[in-house]
Amino acid sequence: MLYTKPEITKPPRTVVLMLTSWLAPIVWNGTYNSDILNAQFHQRKVRIGLTVFAIKKYVIFLKNFIESAEKFFIIGHKVHYYIFTDRTQDISKFSLGDGRSMDIIEVKSYQRWQDITMRRMEIIWNYSLQRFINEVDYLVCADVDLIFSDHVGVEILSDVFGVIHPGFFGASRKEFTHERRPQSEGYIPFDEGDFYYTGCYFGGRVQEIYKLANFCNNAMLADKANNIEALWHDESYLNKYFLHYKPTKLLSPEYAWNYYYGSPTLVQRKRLVHVEKDFKTIRSK
Ligand code: UDP
Ligand code: MN
Repeated sequence: MLYTKPEITKPPRTVVLMLTSWLAPIVWNGTYNSDILNAQFHQRKVRIGLTVFAIKKYVIFLKNFIESAEKFFIIGHKVHYYIFTDRTQDISKFSLGDGRSMDIIEVKSYQRWQDITMRRMEIIWNYSLQRFINEVDYLVCADVDLIFSDHVGVEILSDVFGVIHPGFFGASRKEFTHERRPQSEGYIPFDEGDFYYTGCYFGGRVQEIYKLANFCNNAMLADKANNIEALWHDESYLNKYFLHYKPTKLLSPEYAWNYYYGSPTLVQRKRLVHVEKDFKTIRSK
């Protein structure tokens, strides 16, 4: 394969951080070569599972999510969608590309939307050793109220990856909306914390996601027993996990954009974007 030689004194991007202090790469547009990455991952014949939950009214987001993933999500590799829903009959048939497959798995719903989002960790944890470990190498776990709108490829894959929240990449530690009550398992003091990670998207090797989901689920259950719930639910527990078990790769906010935050020049491409939703209606019974 022919490509330009890497130059030690010519970093591809100079105005954004490309490496954390624990030496995890931060993935930005222009910092990687997809041909090299694709060849490396093809050699290993990797299989990727994408988990997504569409419970109650959120089933309406599924069609655009899957159809856009068919255009942009890790094209050219083996991809298996795991759709968790309580409304199997409302899910239409999708026509999937070569090497791509889907399972629709029925799960129970919860009354409170906060429980629906938090219990995803329990389900992911449960299925990891039962099922995912035998079927895929990597898991990517995403919210359903997202649309892929540009290339998302194997550059995202690593042992464990987290995504920098689009609202906080320039923020100070004090501004991070971590859980600040010491009584909560999600607690992060004001002088700690590296980045503010979004709860809508993370992934890694199945073994690693098993550990991550187990931690977040246990933290949530311990808080429940103490009648406390972290400020941003599963996102708060995920941020606590990443503080102590640092991700091996970070994705820039290109990978979880929200136009609510405008369109800064640093973010050259918007690969996965949040769908605007009417919170009141969508979260009602
Ligand atoms: N979710 C769901 N049904 C619900 C509430 C949440 O399926 O009634 C799932 C869905 O995958 C959703 C995710 O949980 O994308 C997180 O909830 P939401 O997107 O509302 O949280 P936000 O991104 O607004 O913080
Ligand atoms: Mn969401």
